[in-house]
Amino acid sequence: MPYGYHGKILHVYLESGKMEVETPPESFYRTYMGGSAMALYYILREVPKGADPLGPENLLTVFPSVVTGAPISGQSRINVNAKSPMSGAIGDSQAGGFFPAEFKFAGYDGVIFHGQSPKWVYLTIIDGKPELHDASHLLGKVTGEVDKMLKQEVGDEKAQVMQIGPAAEIGVRFSGIINMANRMNGRTGMGLVMASKKLKAIVVRGKNRPQIADSKALAALNKTGPAKSAANPDVDGLAKLGTAGVVMFQNMIGSLPTRNYNEGQFEGAEAISGERMAETILKERDTCYACIVRCKRVVEITEGKFTADPYYGGAEYETISTFGSYCGIDDLAAISHAHQICDMYGVDSISCGATIAFAMECYEKGIITKEDTGGIDLRFGNADAMIEVLKQIVTKSTPLGKILAEGSARAAQVWGKGADECLITVKNEEAPAHMPQSKRSLALIYAVNPFGADHQSSEHDPYYEEGVADFNLDRLKQIGLGNPQPPFSLTPEKVRFGFLGECFYSMMDTLTVCQFVYGPTWCLYDGEDTAAMVRAVTGWDVTLDELMKLGHRRIALMRTFNAREGFSRKDDTLPKKFFKPLVGTGPTAGLAVGREEFEAALDEYYKLAGMTNDGIPKKETLEQLGVGWAAEYLPA
Ligand code: SF4
Repeated sequence: MPYGYHGKILHVYLESGKMEVETPPESFYRTYMGGSAMALYYILREVPKGADPLGPENLLTVFPSVVTGAPISGQSRINVNAKSPMSGAIGDSQAGGFFPAEFKFAGYDGVIFHGQSPKWVYLTIIDGKPELHDASHLLGKVTGEVDKMLKQEVGDEKAQVMQIGPAAEIGVRFSGIINMANRMNGRTGMGLVMASKKLKAIVVRGKNRPQIADSKALAALNKTGPAKSAANPDVDGLAKLGTAGVVMFQNMIGSLPTRNYNEGQFEGAEAISGERMAETILKERDTCYACIVRCKRVVEITEGKFTADPYYGGAEYETISTFGSYCGIDDLAAISHAHQICDMYGVDSISCGATIAFAMECYEKGIITKEDTGGIDLRFGNADAMIEVLKQIVTKSTPLGKILAEGSARAAQVWGKGADECLITVKNEEAPAHMPQSKRSLALIYAVNPFGADHQSSEHDPYYEEGVADFNLDRLKQIGLGNPQPPFSLTPEKVRFGFLGECFYSMMDTLTVCQFVYGPTWCLYDGEDTAAMVRAVTGWDVTLDELMKLGHRRIALMRTFNAREGFSRKDDTLPKKFFKPLVGTGPTAGLAVGREEFEAALDEYYKLAGMTNDGIPKKETLEQLGVGWAAEYLPA
């Protein structure tokens, strides 16, 4: 058996219930390693051009990686891919928790769902044995309930459950896939694809741990990472305050999206900060399998009109911002309750919160009125209105709920009257809570990222701007970046930072490792450590250069898929709003992304990434990346 993996990929044909086990050669694992790179190998070949994302031709792939389940921090993450029902481009989403490692221990390196089941089913994989079961009794139930029911049904409290919630069953477009009832593959509508296949859940349990090539080297890394990070306040801050700990920093630099991205500073930031959470509602810290950082929050609120059940964990920074500052809401209890509703019903909190903020701006501008909202006073800052609309979205119980359950881009088409001026979407995906007006390279990466605006697809600008700590710059030098740039700049060197950072993050999403543990700057492990970790697990002579190429390969495969579906430079755009000066206070007030600098950055990026000036990967680029076979899917 090769090190790090099982050598087995499970194919489930939902139409017939038939299953097959594929045993790819080692060269396949070395080329793709896991996550969405592995997924694209199948999706490009098997999903026909123009396929309906919600039809039987779409594949749904679930891939951890060669390092998932190894005894080291930050490896327990899993990737879900399919053609996205949000954009029609490739869909991609990651989640952590205990499910990913348990999935690996259940005996497979990935599972691919083909076709659509005639009736609702769930899949169990227990100690290598896959079985489909009737899921009709689970329908309509919230995720916490289903999580408990399925553990009981397989008779093992330690079984891990990944599922869609009731929102996906009724067609909410930005539905995610949730494990542990609190870790979400949230983005790009992967839950709706799973629902279209009538697949309710995947339950895994097993004792089949892949062999580690060099356990001593891995044990040494388990010591050196934390030791090196002793001088690094970022890891300590993440552990103490979770991702919520960045609220105040984001606010300080003018990158906390406020009132639907019109401002970069929120007067209520302190009230929704990680510090406030720790002082008030934090019950405990949680973790993912084998991770020493323990950044996950568990909150509890038992009194008042907005409660929070610890079963659903606690809000991350993105959720705090989308339901908080995006909506002008400074009520941490309301935000925590919104987070819980998203997890109970299984929807992406970024798209959902941002869609409500969009609707609030439309209401304030008179594009919609109380007639459209069913009498709700949907102004910024109204926490009761936010919660009420959220409930209507996840249940699609009102005309407003039905419109917003399609996401903001589709809602703008329904409402017209200039509603598109209020959008913050790229490829129909609502932008996360890091502002490209402040972190200027994100203007580029939000635009070119194959699955829409994403904050976890490249390194953020403060780490490559004047004044960056030596600790971080030394790490960036490992990937050839040693020349920090002025703040708010999008120079050619910043574009190089954007591209190389994107390759690094793409590599991490291929290895399905946590971006708070491995990273090009502040994390527990740097780039060279990441390569050392892969070497220790697999026994391969992997270098950081090879891993950077792996990341580039994933991007090129995704862009090839998109190009075949008709995507090109015209789709690598930003919302109109990002080109207009921000209002409000703080260092970004009055700042906008410049159209000329943006277009110049696109030109430069395409050159660096080996694409045509229209954003299509070149045939020779695919060949250089070892995936020349994919060229046949490029448009003529
Ligand atoms: S840093 Fe946080 S999210 Fe990442 S693996 Fe550890 S506990 Fe999970």
